[in-house]
Amino acid sequence: MKRKIYFNIATLSALVAILVTGFLLLTFYNFHVKNEIRALKDYGKIMSDILDPLDDITADSLRGNTDPNIRLTIIDLDGNVLFDNMANPQTMENHLDREEVKDALKFGEGEAVRNSATLDKNTYYYAVLLSNNSILRISRQGATIFSHFKNVLPFIFLIVFLILLLSLFTSSILTKKILEPVENVVKNMEEIIDNRALNEFIVYDEIMPFIKKVENQKNQIKYNIKTLEEKAALMDVITSSMKEGFILIDENKKILSTNDSGIKLLQGDDNLSYYGDDFIKLSRSIKLHEALDKSIDTNSSEELILNLGEKYLTIYINPVLSNNILIGLVILVVDFTQKYKLDLMRREFSANVSHELKTPLTSINGYAEIIESGMAKNEDIKKFASTIRKEGVRLLNLIDSIIKLSRIEEEEYEKDFYIIDIYDIGENTMDNLKLIAGKKNISLNLYGKSTFINGNKDMIAELIYNLLDNGIKYTPYGGNVNLEIKSEDGWAIIKVSDTGIGIPASQQSRIFERFYTVDKSRSRKKQSIGIGLSIVKHIVEYHHGKIKLVSEINKGTEIIIKIKHYA
Ligand code: ADP
Repeated sequence: MKRKIYFNIATLSALVAILVTGFLLLTFYNFHVKNEIRALKDYGKIMSDILDPLDDITADSLRGNTDPNIRLTIIDLDGNVLFDNMANPQTMENHLDREEVKDALKFGEGEAVRNSATLDKNTYYYAVLLSNNSILRISRQGATIFSHFKNVLPFIFLIVFLILLLSLFTSSILTKKILEPVENVVKNMEEIIDNRALNEFIVYDEIMPFIKKVENQKNQIKYNIKTLEEKAALMDVITSSMKEGFILIDENKKILSTNDSGIKLLQGDDNLSYYGDDFIKLSRSIKLHEALDKSIDTNSSEELILNLGEKYLTIYINPVLSNNILIGLVILVVDFTQKYKLDLMRREFSANVSHELKTPLTSINGYAEIIESGMAKNEDIKKFASTIRKEGVRLLNLIDSIIKLSRIEEEEYEKDFYIIDIYDIGENTMDNLKLIAGKKNISLNLYGKSTFINGNKDMIAELIYNLLDNGIKYTPYGGNVNLEIKSEDGWAIIKVSDTGIGIPASQQSRIFERFYTVDKSRSRKKQSIGIGLSIVKHIVEYHHGKIKLVSEINKGTEIIIKIKHYA
């Protein structure tokens, strides 16, 4: 803008300078021509006065008595030259067509300026009709405009050059002066908009609409940014609190945004934002990339299941279209590991339950058939009946355990929580098991003191029973099973330890699974079905507690449960 204004002013002043100079030169020239003609006229008047009455004066007498620079020609009314002081009239052509002659015939006098043969000379003519019906024409050669200018041209150039310099200088000052207020406004736009009282900046009224527009746009931009920020913040809050992974990528598979769950579920690096990275940096799964490519190529929604180590993920891919053109993909990653495992467990559970029910029933059926067929000897019938009863008890225990487990899993248990003393519950439970322990000569010992938790009494009783029962079951004749109840660092501790057969390290992580038994043959003998510890685990989870297992083969097992202590 500055350059443009500067250029325009400079051009304008240069043009004005040139035009004014040209105009002055032209005026000067016209003035000069008029002067020449006037001189000729004056001279012609004098000559016509002399010539008019002197009809008989011979033309020759005029020769040498006139101005040597002035040519005198006398022409008759037909245009024939009668006299010329510089040439032989006989050789001269008819002059009727000459402009000054024509005018003299018509109006009594005429004048003309014509270029001579040489370019830098002009000839000035004046013709006057004499009373003796002849025309006197006077002519004189003078300098042309060019010859005049030739002499003054260097000065003209110098003047034009000086004017140009001056105009360049003044244009730069003018440009500065014109633009200064505008530049000030631009420089101080923020202040002007924020405090409209700063009128000192607004030199031109014409700038006001511009400022208004800028102000409006500023407000609009502010509003838009605020709205966008709010939307982004809302989106952030929503996506960051989502368990599901929410990832946006563009059509070239560059990551535009991802929430923490997205990174975590796809097993990326928590410390990276992945913004602007290729999706391959976050996940190298070929299956996932194939699905993304398919969605990009065909604008289709895709769904796939991905198994990443322990995790099972369902991934939903949706194309984002703008005017039917794909601009990106929304990827939703849902962790269904829990559900997958639950489904698996349920399937295993049904298989296990049928198996566990079938085994004692087959045995009962078998013995009953033998007795029924009369093939059993009398002394065997008692033995068979005892086996049938044992298997019946086993069946009942099994059904009882399954019912308990499913009640806990389906959360049908009495849910009410009370402030309960777990030492008290432990003491009662231990009493119930004294008889069984006594049969194996196992000593049951209770340590600790009253400890309170906010919990469910029946569940805690069930938990302690199962742990003590296991202790008795897996401790050889004459061993010890201890129960310790205490509080420690804000936790209530239930510790059940025994001097039993222990659990192999390789199996320790699995014994809390349903129907998991360490050694089938050993478990069978012990009437183990693998549900007790699974119930324990559920009850602990229900109380938001923790379980720790320490066990060594042939030395014993220690199971420590921590539940928040009620103080
Ligand atoms: P169950 O109630 O049928 O014994 P559990 O779920 O309680 O089943 O136990 C699962 C398995 O863990 C058992 O089969 C047993 O091998 C092992 N186990 C549990 N408690 C002990 C213990 N105190 N000592 C040794 N092994 C144990």
